Amino acid sequence: MNLEYPYSYQDVIDKCKEYLPEKYWSMIEKAYYFAEKAHKGQFRKSGEEYILHPIQVAGILAELKLDYATVCAGFLHDVVEDTEYTLEDIKENFTEDISVIVDGVTKLDKVKFRSKKQSQAENHRKLFIAIASDLRVIFVKLADRLHNMRTLKHMKEEKQKEIASETLEIYAPLAHRLGISSIKWELEDTSLRYLHAEQYFSIVGLMKQKRSVRVESIKQASDKIIEVLEENDIKAEVSGRPKHIYSIYKKMQKQNKTFDEIYDLLAVRVLVDNVADCYATLGLVNNMWLPIPGRMKDYIAMPKPNMYQSLHTTLISPTGQPLEVQIRTYEMHEIAEKGIAAHWAYKEGRKAGKQDDFYQKLNWFQKIAEGDETEATAEEFMDSLKVDLLSDKIYVFTPNSDIIELPKGSCVVDFAYAVHSEVGNKMIGAKINDKIVPFDYILSTGEICDVRTSKNSSGPSRDWLKIAKSSQTKSKIKSYFKKAAREENLVKGEILLKDEIKSQGFDIDEILTEEAIELVLNKYHVNTIEELYRTIGYGALTPNQVFMRLTEKLRKEKQAQEKLDKLINAQEDNKKIVTETGVYVKGVDNILVRLSKCCKPIPGDEIVGFITKGRGVTVHRNDCPNVKNEDPNRLLDVEWVESLNRRTYTVTLQIHAFDRDMLLSNVLLKLSESKVVVTKMNSESKVDKSCIIDISILIKNIEECNFIIKKLRQIADVYNVERIIK
Ligand code: MN
Repeated sequence: MNLEYPYSYQDVIDKCKEYLPEKYWSMIEKAYYFAEKAHKGQFRKSGEEYILHPIQVAGILAELKLDYATVCAGFLHDVVEDTEYTLEDIKENFTEDISVIVDGVTKLDKVKFRSKKQSQAENHRKLFIAIASDLRVIFVKLADRLHNMRTLKHMKEEKQKEIASETLEIYAPLAHRLGISSIKWELEDTSLRYLHAEQYFSIVGLMKQKRSVRVESIKQASDKIIEVLEENDIKAEVSGRPKHIYSIYKKMQKQNKTFDEIYDLLAVRVLVDNVADCYATLGLVNNMWLPIPGRMKDYIAMPKPNMYQSLHTTLISPTGQPLEVQIRTYEMHEIAEKGIAAHWAYKEGRKAGKQDDFYQKLNWFQKIAEGDETEATAEEFMDSLKVDLLSDKIYVFTPNSDIIELPKGSCVVDFAYAVHSEVGNKMIGAKINDKIVPFDYILSTGEICDVRTSKNSSGPSRDWLKIAKSSQTKSKIKSYFKKAAREENLVKGEILLKDEIKSQGFDIDEILTEEAIELVLNKYHVNTIEELYRTIGYGALTPNQVFMRLTEKLRKEKQAQEKLDKLINAQEDNKKIVTETGVYVKGVDNILVRLSKCCKPIPGDEIVGFITKGRGVTVHRNDCPNVKNEDPNRLLDVEWVESLNRRTYTVTLQIHAFDRDMLLSNVLLKLSESKVVVTKMNSESKVDKSCIIDISILIKNIEECNFIIKKLRQIADVYNVERIIK
């Protein structure tokens, strides 16, 4: 058999006739003849007629028992890309299904999935699936790639390596995740041959050497299993399981094991009729030899996400070698080999080409592309297929072949911002596949977008908010404007405030002292002067408000100084002004005059005024210790004006007395007789039977005060009464 071109057209059509109803045969024949005519005169690199390649692809698809449309598309898959015929011709001559598949394959042909960056592999797989948009497109591409790998030796070495690594990065993982292990193994093994020829051939050589021994060990084990199963009336097929070169290579690399360590593991597969037989077989096999603990796996109860089902157990075989036994039904085996293709395969009674609706949507490929084989159960996996994940995404290339994922309907602006905010902010134009396009150009999957930026760009336009698709883009643009506005407000606010200071006749440096700024920032709860400027800039504070705050202390000091000046002048003028305290201040009116709290002067006391900075004049008694040492310049002449005075003053009297009953009552009675108001009283008894009573009363002047003192002294057992400063 020709390994590169195993199928003839007749083989393919015969195979199709085995599983497809007669009504499809003519369409398949038509597809073949159409392709043959279209490729006439074309040749493969190896010299064979080109049509032999589509025949092989269709053959592989028929081997998977796929529907008629997929097989037809296999024949036609290179027609649009490589011949004069167009997609329109396909549409005219064939069914909608067929043209959709051919279109998908043609689109995929146009995209290069080669990147130096390993990190891009996942994105490439996603892009691949997004473009494919129909599962059957992937089947055709996998079959196409499989045949191209089988004939790779006719390519130049450089091309071989390129195609082999693309196969290993994109196609083999896709085949694996779709569960099509038969294709996966072959793609991996062939890729390895071209990427690491030395290791590949060394493993092949070692396998050859060991083959006869291995075959003998496997045969012994198989025979024993068959014997036991027959005794128990279980119908089964037992076979040795082939070892795959790439998996040996990977295990040697990853687990750092020798070839012998890996290859020593014998493996047999038992195929039975039903699930009950699977478990029965597992029990029997586990009784035959010693099972290795922890190696038993039930993938029937818990299928792998790619739908693989089987029972696994590993035992110590009679030769002492570990023996892995896989037990499954024929149906499970078909799925193990063909994966999702087995579900897609033509079955009697199923509407041809119209698989369950969700299968056709590309959405669920996402899960396969990203599939985590260890976590999800098959049920979750199938459920996840229904989730709409990919249909609303597009994949666009940067000129460096990085892939940017965007929501469907995204335009050039979205792309630029997805690359980087700064790219978006500085964008001045864009090219798609080398053609200049407007900013609102809607991107499609697979396009290459080259964003042109300029340092001198004045930033995004407000219109971009209308054309951007993704909310992320919009928020990035908005944040640019917000930031720009912040800058603008900062500058504006600073100018406004400084103008205000100047127009008020102040020097900026005099006003904007650290101390004054600190006060204002605290007052308005802002952290920095920049923030304060911005607040003025957007109008939350007027420059005058801030100016007034800034100059608060300065203005108070100035006012006090002015008043002081006036006072001093007025003293010279000998002008008399009466204040509500009953004190004349020789000076201006309107001056704040307070009686000192320390010595509490009352009319009749000798008094003096004391100028406090910014707080007017405080009146003290002449003998108050607090004014004795003060600067004489700050003392003012003041006088009581009794004739005009109607207010009362607080004095505190201290009574020393013998602590007897009724003393306090006598004191209060005496005060009430004199019509004196008591505001506060405190009595304290001593050990020596004496007591001290402090009593605050309201009186008019010193005469009244003295009169009250005299009255109190007349009370029996009162030793003394005096006015105190408290
Ligand atoms: Mn092809």
